[in-house]
Amino acid sequence: MTADLHDPATFRTALRAWLAKNDLTPPDDHSLAGHMRQFARVMRALYDAGWGRYGWPEHAGGLGGPNMLRAIVGEEIVGRRLAEPGPYSMIEVLAPTMIDYATAELAAEMLPKMLSGEEQWCQGFSEPGSGSDLASLTTRAVRQEGADRYIINGQKVWTSFAQFSHRCILLTRTSDADTPNHQAITAFFVDLDTPGITIRPLHTMHGVDEFCEVYFDNVAVDASRMLGAPGDGWQLAMDLLPYERSTCFWQRIAYLYSRFDALIGEVAGQGESIDTDMGETFLALHTLRCRSRATQHRLADGQKLGPDTSIDKVLLAGAEQRLYDTARDLLPGGTIELDGNDWRTEYLYSRAATIYGGTAEVQRNIIARRLLELGKE
Ligand SMILES: Cc1cc2nc3c(=O)[nH]c(=O)nc-3n(C[C@H](O)[C@H](O)[C@H](O)COP(=O)(O)OP(=O)(O)OC[C@H]3O[C@@H](n4cnc5c(N)ncnc54)[C@H](O)[C@@H]3O)c2cc1C
Repeated sequence: MTADLHDPATFRTALRAWLAKNDLTPPDDHSLAGHMRQFARVMRALYDAGWGRYGWPEHAGGLGGPNMLRAIVGEEIVGRRLAEPGPYSMIEVLAPTMIDYATAELAAEMLPKMLSGEEQWCQGFSEPGSGSDLASLTTRAVRQEGADRYIINGQKVWTSFAQFSHRCILLTRTSDADTPNHQAITAFFVDLDTPGITIRPLHTMHGVDEFCEVYFDNVAVDASRMLGAPGDGWQLAMDLLPYERSTCFWQRIAYLYSRFDALIGEVAGQGESIDTDMGETFLALHTLRCRSRATQHRLADGQKLGPDTSIDKVLLAGAEQRLYDTARDLLPGGTIELDGNDWRTEYLYSRAATIYGGTAEVQRNIIARRLLELGKE
């Protein structure tokens, strides 16, 4: 049974049959807290039925099989709008790299908590002065004399879902000023209920306050929570960001297609004048999906994801903004920014697509320098 389910086509058919029998329809609660509760409910049901464990390594509590299986679960769940794409994406952004860098015991203890919806995790990379220039981060972790632990002080910002999270993958600086930035960064897996941590949600223009400021005041973290060795933090970030720029979008693409279908429903009958806009939007979505599919296959073939995922990120941001620009242009009234409905929220959030996971400008620099070898910007 399990071996059959490692075949993606068989897996998808069986998952669809299960979804047809198990009603996971979200309640009529559009608050962020409501979305997070629904996300946890869906993850619990998927985990208990086994679906949420496929595509994850057995040594960390998964049921094995190719990464494609977990992508299929995301596509089927988020494409049906049973869970929102934002919280769902955090699994793919954080878990693969956490498994690679944590001790085997820590990964085996923690991954099931995330996959079962018992816990949400967050990503503590960006700081007020360090976004694109991540290597300049200043949150410090100092080893405590005579104790096997570190004391952390500093501030993170734009930490998505921190107010709902139990753990954080945190980048800190552990070396003195003479050490080159890229060798001075160390990552920790931090419990967010540790004394000294303060989490403050930030207000957003689209009204969904998903990200936070996170303050660390003399926060004691056991050395066993270090991810990798001292100085491995930069490499951890370089390994994690490609997931954040590519495979985590597979389920989001399914969601964008569902919104494209909804838009067709709302603007149908407007005549030939909409054909060009809708055609270009479809082309952008389709190009993105083709690229993303190829990336999923490269990962399944055992290749390491790297700077080439900046192409996926540029295509995602372009397609997402194209879709919502088209909605703004075609929906009656022409005031999407002011209307009080889902299109407004999504239109405003789509502006962030050229920022999160690395800005559009920085992705183009990476493509120019590292893929096309065009020299420094
Ligand atoms: C919705 C959302 C969710 C996020 N979630 C998280 C999260 O969970 N965890 C986390 O750690 N961070 C998160 N971030 C932060 C995100 O990673 C940063 O916003 C991003 O890396 C950009 O950094 P910055 O905001 O400091 O902008 P800056 O780096 O200050 O950039 C400002 C402008 O300068 C441009 N620029 C900077 N450097 C260059 C360059 N070398 N060449 C050309 N142009 C350049 C940028 O493109 C941008 O237009 C999130 C952001 C958003 C919008």
